[in-house]
Amino acid sequence: MENKCALCNGKLKGKLVDYKIYGKSMGKFKALVCDFCGEKWFGEETARKIEEKEKELGLFGLSRETKISYSGNSLIIRIPKELARFMGLKKETSVILYPEDKNKLCVAVK
Ligand SMILES: [Zn+2]
Repeated sequence: MENKCALCNGKLKGKLVDYKIYGKSMGKFKALVCDFCGEKWFGEETARKIEEKEKELGLFGLSRETKISYSGNSLIIRIPKELARFMGLKKETSVILYPEDKNKLCVAVK
């Protein structure tokens, strides 16, 4: 069976790749890497291993859906407590907001 990349139809090769989440390395995992576009594909078993590791480190499920609301004339975004804890955010923490692109807002701790 020949493996092809679902994005570009390039050839996939089995490799050990360094998997990072939120800037922290989770270690090396088996993946199929596309020769052409570089996309990494993890199998079900590997995905489960990565999930276990994330849970172990308390990093699992840190991304959350949140809604924008109003406060006076400003828009506010509530930051879930798990995320606040992970980033060390408290009341009065100074952060810099900047758009990374039109669909992505970054919050950087000074
Ligand atoms: Zn590809």
